[in-house]
Amino acid sequence: MERNQQSAIVEMTCMQVRALIVDYLDGNLGLDEYIRVDAHLDHCDHCSAIFDGVRNVVVLLGSDELFQVPSGLDERLHDELIRVEARGTEFCEPS
Ligand SMILES: [Zn+2]
Repeated sequence: MERNQQSAIVEMTCMQVRALIVDYLDGNLGLDEYIRVDAHLDHCDHCSAIFDGVRNVVVLLGSDELFQVPSGLDERLHDELIRVEARGTEFCEPS
């Protein structure tokens, strides 16, 4: 079996990559880690899908535009909270 340049890169597991995704996005990784995460995302569909999702969230949170809440959602949430309260759901009350 032929060894290529890629085999010199120590393969990261999916768990390791996912733990580093935010730092990868923020550019907080060292070059070595960056290359390894990059190489993993290149061939792992699961992690690259997670990466896309995280990137979208980061972009949205970083933008100045406010989220458009679907109309009526706040009322439905309010109604549901009232219902939960009416059911007497017990919460920990501060003494
Ligand atoms: Zn992966």
